Amino acid sequence: MEHDPEVHNLKCPKCSHGMEEVTLEGITIDRCSNCQGLWFDDDEAHRLKDIENSELLDHGDKTEGWKYDSREDIDCPHCGKRMEKTFDSKQVHIWYEICHDHGMFMDAGEFTDLKHLSPLDWFRGLIKGNRDVVAP
Ligand SMILES: [Zn+2]
Ligand SMILES: [Zn+2]
Repeated sequence: MEHDPEVHNLKCPKCSHGMEEVTLEGITIDRCSNCQGLWFDDDEAHRLKDIENSELLDHGDKTEGWKYDSREDIDCPHCGKRMEKTFDSKQVHIWYEICHDHGMFMDAGEFTDLKHLSPLDWFRGLIKGNRDVVAP
């Protein structure tokens, strides 16, 4: 992917802190230095999902991420347009914000969820109540 200088110093759409670039296997994403939310350009989230240990990029505190999950109406850090809240078609409990032109934002812990939880895990969690199905 060509280097876009505007990608630098992205501001977190949730808390407005600066974001730092983190790279794995040649894929660079932006991570907020405060709430640890992750910004993925285009289809980076789906590409990273298939890479071993990519969940290490998502090292934020999940409970911290949840605080920000309730914050809605966020704007795309690239174009400033209101982002759309959407959910994963297979794991409908994971909500994230998407700009159809630029990419998506996930709160801390959501990418790890997306990577690890199968729908079956999720249903087991429901049946047993509030069991924490997320690996430590
Ligand atoms: Zn943030
Ligand atoms: Zn945008």
